[in-house]
Amino acid sequence: MSFTDLGLMPELLRAVAEKGYDAPTPIQTQAVPAVLAGRDVLAGAQTGTGKTAGFVLPILQRLGAPAGTAPRSLVLVPTRELAAQVAESARAYGKYLRLRTFQVFGGVNINPQITRLHAGCDILVATPGRLLDLAQQRAVDLGHVEILVLDEADRMLDMGFIHDIKRVLKLLPASRQNLLFSATYSDEIRALAERLLRNPLSIQVAPRNAPIELVEQRAYRVPKEHKRHLLAHLIRDNDWRQVLVFTRTKHGANRLAQQLEGAGITAAAIHGNKSQSARIRALEAFKQGEVRALVATEVAARGLDIKELPHVINYELPNVPEDYVHRIGRTGRAGRAGEAISLVGEDEHGLLRDVERLLRRAIPVAPTPAFVIVETAHPPAGSRSAEHHGQPRPQARGAGAHGSHARGAAHGGARGGQSVLHSQRSRSPRQRHR
Ligand code: AMP
Repeated sequence: MSFTDLGLMPELLRAVAEKGYDAPTPIQTQAVPAVLAGRDVLAGAQTGTGKTAGFVLPILQRLGAPAGTAPRSLVLVPTRELAAQVAESARAYGKYLRLRTFQVFGGVNINPQITRLHAGCDILVATPGRLLDLAQQRAVDLGHVEILVLDEADRMLDMGFIHDIKRVLKLLPASRQNLLFSATYSDEIRALAERLLRNPLSIQVAPRNAPIELVEQRAYRVPKEHKRHLLAHLIRDNDWRQVLVFTRTKHGANRLAQQLEGAGITAAAIHGNKSQSARIRALEAFKQGEVRALVATEVAARGLDIKELPHVINYELPNVPEDYVHRIGRTGRAGRAGEAISLVGEDEHGLLRDVERLLRRAIPVAPTPAFVIVETAHPPAGSRSAEHHGQPRPQARGAGAHGSHARGAAHGGARGGQSVLHSQRSRSPRQRHR
């Protein structure tokens, strides 16, 4: 099955080809023709299945060209991140059409949204609360909505949006197409589907990403300045050939890729500041196994499709806990178990707790493996690497650090003069020199 078989118009096929998708995912194969035919759809699909394109592509095609100022398609989503992501997808897939997509969500000034809505939009992606505020202020007219999507409906209900959703429904025309996407089916979702959908096509797809249960998750506590040494150690010691590493910033991604290269590990960074061709090159080199570590920021990693990626490293934990799920969903695809390791600095304990709260489970903190600190690039003037060799100072607190020193002595000594053993409480080699 190819995208051409789905009955999509050339403008959309071109945009999809540019995204680099080879073939439609199972949800796309089923949802696209049904939505194009005007049917209601009830889809059980998680993030990572390609569900967004599954509804965005046929909606773009059905709307065709801009008309009027009021939105003709409304996509309700639980969070601002998802709103931005869905709108971004609609703009990317619709880049050869002139349709206008706009997103609105709470927590930011409403006035620019009002101004923007007055200019007209065809597809409106919205969180329910802010949408109601806008509707109350008559900034948006929902009386022309032809296609309604409830995306991640289960999460919207979990977040207590059911009353807002019901109020939104009252503002829509009675006759319209309805699509409901949900990762899980509770009685509440079933009731909502029953009320909303007419003779829907039911689609249930296996998650393309491994369910989170299949991913072995672990955290190591490690001071920020030692993270790169631990990462280099993990890659080398485990002989990882393909590891995806997440940093929080573009600058951090660049720097880490350079540091890994300096430590003799082939690495490349991808992020929003890099040109499309540079990103494609880096990704290809990674897929081909020429580059062992791909260092990516959140945004750049969206849309990366790398099959059966065994290791994902959170070099820094994300500020938004949902991003953790997206990140680790990249490992263990197609039912294989993968491994996701988070390097948790002193200032990241709160972020780890946020992730655990979201997952409703604890992420085991494993004893930090012993690793050596290898000073490679640009040693400070007058200090050769060899001079960094020093006896470890095992002043460690905590079981993890203790364990690591015992083993560290055995490992580290063999590495010769360039090494300084990691100690949780010892200062960095550079500091020790002063
Ligand atoms: P979603 O489940 O909609 O959040 O999509 C998950 C990821 O899969 C996104 O990063 C999409 O860019 C990507 N994706 C969507 N459709 C395809 C496809 N047919 N082939 C490869 N990747 C895709």
